[in-house]
Amino acid sequence: MSAVPLPMPATLARPEPTDEAGSGRATRGPRAGAGSRGQLVDRFGRVHRDLRISLTDRCSLRCTYCMPEQGVEWLAKSSILTTDEIVRVAEVLASLGIVEVRLTGGEPLLRRDIVDVVRRISAIEGVSGPLEVSMTTNGLKLPELADPLRDAGLTRVNISIDTLRPDRFAELTRRDRLDDVLDGIRAARRAGFSPLKLNAVPMRGVNDDELVDLVQFAIDNGAQMRFIEQMPLDAGHTWSRTEMVGADEILDRLTRRFTLTPIGERGSSPAQDYLVDGGPTTVGLIASVSAPFCGACDRVRLTADGQLRNCLFAREESDLLPLLRGSHGRGPADDDALADLLRRSIAGKRAGHGIDDPGFLQPQRPMSAIGG
Ligand code: SAM
Ligand code: SF4
Repeated sequence: MSAVPLPMPATLARPEPTDEAGSGRATRGPRAGAGSRGQLVDRFGRVHRDLRISLTDRCSLRCTYCMPEQGVEWLAKSSILTTDEIVRVAEVLASLGIVEVRLTGGEPLLRRDIVDVVRRISAIEGVSGPLEVSMTTNGLKLPELADPLRDAGLTRVNISIDTLRPDRFAELTRRDRLDDVLDGIRAARRAGFSPLKLNAVPMRGVNDDELVDLVQFAIDNGAQMRFIEQMPLDAGHTWSRTEMVGADEILDRLTRRFTLTPIGERGSSPAQDYLVDGGPTTVGLIASVSAPFCGACDRVRLTADGQLRNCLFAREESDLLPLLRGSHGRGPADDDALADLLRRSIAGKRAGHGIDDPGFLQPQRPMSAIGG
């Protein structure tokens, strides 16, 4: 299919810290205690630096691999973390060595105070400077929010787009909104987010004939393409390993059309990146199932209802709500108690997600309630 190129981006400059009234950004002097609580290290020596925060389990789409069409069991409104609570957890985690935060969901842009959330988190001083804040979004609200988010300190955006065909998009997401996603991609480019990454989950017989088209779309639109192996995190528990389109197969199909040159080692990054036809476009393959990167995992997740998850596939969670809000007649706990719980949660992290283990059980929560 022929893809319509979107306009060229302006350069995104991260706003300088300032204390000017009305600037909307806090001054970032060194924060007492930043990094002073040591690091978040697990039994296998993995040091945790990357925090994913799910801001809501609500969403404007209903992707088949993520949410059910109807009958979603929403998290109780009263359990959803306030912005003050999120900022507090992020501050304590920053003092434990977290340096990057990715905002996700559900759809993070549905959170009404999203610009404020970005502004406040990106004002937190980590061990090596202000926290780096990025976002994964379906892009629908970017036309109105891309500029304010950039001004609030958001540095990078990943936009999910699984197909370029309107009828297919409507079927796959159960909403007829491909044009709105394309508008969102345009807005992100105009706002200067760079690199702009596009995420797609290939599914057999659904969109796996569009791999080349999606990469071509990324080339035509100055974006980077990333393909994510479908994981057993759908609400309907219908995932099947044999049906999954694996990274090897994706690579094989793409190399029939493009010359892909591997870029460096994957490290703690989930994606193995390749230059497409010599660049500058890249394609990243996220082989979470077929070639897990658990050994280098440095991620920890905070759900919208205040549960710390040390793995996407964790079956246990650490409930931060009682410490944040107080319980059994006790008031809220202090930062040291919070840090202790966070440390204990990470210490108990398993070696790997275990999808291939005979006893593997899919987490109760669907992806929309964990945060991808
Ligand atoms: N709503 C936003 C979006 O779609 O970008 C953010 C949340 S979504 C859960 C984050 C990412 O997880 C998206 O790129 C989505 O494609 C991916 N995802 C959701 N369910 C998945 C699954 N079962 N396997 C692999 N990736 C999945
Ligand atoms: Fe919503 Fe993102 Fe899940 Fe799709 S993948 S249903 S956009 S949370």
